[in-house]
Amino acid sequence: MNKPVIGVLAVQGAFIEHRQILAKLGVETFEIRQKADLLNNPLDGLILPGGESTVQGKLLRELDLFDLLLEKIQKGLPVFGTCAGLILLASHLSNDGNTYFGTLPVTVQRNAYGRQLGSFFTEQPFRGEVVPMTFIRAPLIESAGEGVEVLAQDPETKQIYAVRYKNQLGVSFHPELNDDTRIHQYFVDMM
Ligand code: GLN
Repeated sequence: MNKPVIGVLAVQGAFIEHRQILAKLGVETFEIRQKADLLNNPLDGLILPGGESTVQGKLLRELDLFDLLLEKIQKGLPVFGTCAGLILLASHLSNDGNTYFGTLPVTVQRNAYGRQLGSFFTEQPFRGEVVPMTFIRAPLIESAGEGVEVLAQDPETKQIYAVRYKNQLGVSFHPELNDDTRIHQYFVDMM
């Protein structure tokens, strides 16, 4: 695809930073705040940003965006979920009775790093290239289902940080908070 247009869910959380990174890559974006935004824009990809998954899940329902987005994801729209966005995509949450879109076959534990380690920075390989990773009250990908490709995994602890399943990319950290465009470029290349 020559010039994709990416919708960034903008009901809550760190959506501006995603737009800034994508602007650096010369990719056009728009904010999804209400249904009209989806009806009035071309949509080649979707970003579900970090923030608070419970709040985002509730707002998606209240704003009547949930079913529309779910259908698009199920039909193959490329989607990139970061942190809370990963939680929205996950098919299982091990410490929470809720699930949201549930389209990505992974089991995720919310707020897995405890209070002390709630936020931290590391550099780890993503598809073999070392990239900066900022974790903020991050979820942990406990296990990945069949057909899920692991894109980033700590070589020592074996903790999984990034996965891809067909049209869905999920990472437990915040790639939009560092000055590195490679993970967003990977997502753009999925289109
Ligand atoms: N702890 C948040 C949640 O459970 C996710 C944190 C984040 O997106 N940085 O939704």
